[in-house]
Amino acid sequence: MTGPQPSGDTHGARGPNRRPRAAASDEPTAARSARDNDAGWETYHEQMFDVAKAPNGFIRWKILSSGVNMARQLAGARNRGRAAWVAEHGQDPDAWPLPHPPAVLWMPTVASAACLRCLWLGYRGVSDPDEAAAAARGHAAEYVTADSAAARLLLREPLPVWQRNDPHDEPGPQTAG
Ligand SMILES: [Zn+2]
Repeated sequence: MTGPQPSGDTHGARGPNRRPRAAASDEPTAARSARDNDAGWETYHEQMFDVAKAPNGFIRWKILSSGVNMARQLAGARNRGRAAWVAEHGQDPDAWPLPHPPAVLWMPTVASAACLRCLWLGYRGVSDPDEAAAAARGHAAEYVTADSAAARLLLREPLPVWQRNDPHDEPGPQTAG
């Protein structure tokens, strides 16, 4: 991952034992690293929820339980989207037709805007995939120069919608925008 990372961390440098704020699970590290499919979920979680502002213990507990699940599922959907993009356009982000490829993530019934390069997440609780697509394009457009006509054209294409991986879900939207 070479793109700019959302900072999210306002607490300055921390020691090597720094744990993500959202590490609600006490699973051994080895078990965790065995499944990279939800890599980046901590960064998603930080953008979705502010544990410090939880009004009470119940909400805090929900953020650290259900909220972590949601962040993991969204990160998993995003990583499948990224894998598909890489399969088509290669591993080298400098050679991609869009520096920050936009995507829409779907978890019934909320659509989120995402980027397939960095871990930016537009999580606003909207259920309209087209609205999420517009937000994702807004992020992508920040990295497209005015003279890049091909990239601008590509930005107008409908975006694929990446679903969370839950066999019980009704099929969600396939494209957005
Ligand atoms: Zn990005």
